[in-house]
Amino acid sequence: MQVISSIPDFRKARSDLRGTLGLVPTMGYLHEGHLALVRRARLENDAVAASIFVNPSQFGPNEDFTTYPRDMDRDLSLLRVEGVDLVFAPSPEDVYPPGFDTWIEAGSVSQRLEGEHRPGHFRGVATVVAKLFNVVQPDRAYFGQKDGQQVAVVKRMVTDLDMDVDVVVVSTLRDPDGLALSSRNVYLTPEQRRVAPIIYRALCQARKLWEDGERSGESLRSEIRRTLEQEPLIEKIDYVSVADASSLEEVDTIRQPAMVSVAARMGRTRLIDNVLLG
Ligand code: AMP
Repeated sequence: MQVISSIPDFRKARSDLRGTLGLVPTMGYLHEGHLALVRRARLENDAVAASIFVNPSQFGPNEDFTTYPRDMDRDLSLLRVEGVDLVFAPSPEDVYPPGFDTWIEAGSVSQRLEGEHRPGHFRGVATVVAKLFNVVQPDRAYFGQKDGQQVAVVKRMVTDLDMDVDVVVVSTLRDPDGLALSSRNVYLTPEQRRVAPIIYRALCQARKLWEDGERSGESLRSEIRRTLEQEPLIEKIDYVSVADASSLEEVDTIRQPAMVSVAARMGRTRLIDNVLLG
C-alpha cells in the first residue's frame, strides 16, 4: 500500500495501475462504515484508492474542524488489512494552495436540510470531491447512505458536469442498538450514547407507518418530532424531513423513492441519520 500526499506523486502512482479503480473518499478516523465502502470497492474493482482528508472548506467557522478526531496510523493499518492499493492523504495546502479560487456551487439540492444549517458545507464537499475525482481518476466512487444529502449532491454534480465516474451508494452501518456509525460518535458522553439510538428508532417508526399505508409527509414528520421531543438529552432538532430522494424537496404526499431524515443535537454533538422509503 502506497501512502501519498502530493498530487504529482499520486498521479504518477495512479498511472502505473491497470484495470478499474474504485475510490473511497473519507475524512479518516475510520470505522466499520468506512470499511464497508472499502470492501465493496475491493470486490468491484481491480485496484482501490482511499483518501483521508479533513476538508477545511466544508466546516463552518463555529464547527469542529480543529477538534475533528484524527488517527492516521490507525487508519493506515485498517486500510492495509483491507488490501487498499493507494492512499491519498494530502495536506490542506496541497488541496488549497495559495491563490486557490474556484468553487463548485451545487444547486438547490444543496440548499435544504444540511445546507440550511451548515451554510457553505456542500460547496466545500462538491469542490473537494471534484478535485479528488480529477486527481484520482476513479472508475467508481463509493459513498455512504448515512450522508444521504451528500449522495444527492454528488450525483447531481456528476450528472451536471458530465463526470465519468459511477457513484456507488453503500447502506448505513449501525451499532447493534441502531446508532449509525460515525467518527463523531466519540464526542458522546456515556449517557448521550445510551439514548442516541432514539433517532434511528424514530426513523424506523416512521418507515413502519409508511409500510402500513400512511402517505402523508406531515404525519411522518410530526410522529418523528413527537418521539424525539420526549428525550430531554436531545437539546435541539435541526430538522425532520420527508423529501423526494433525489431533489430533496419536502413532499406532502409520499411517492417513492423518498428519504426520511433527521439532524439533532446532543450537547456538542450533531447527529444525522436517514432511512429510504421504496
Ligand atoms: P466521512 O469520513 O464521515 O466523511 O465519511 C466518508 C464516507 O463514509 C462517506 O461517504 C460517508 O457517507 C461514509 N460513511 C460514514 N459513516 C457511515 C456508516 N455508518 N455507514 C456507511 N457509510 C458511512
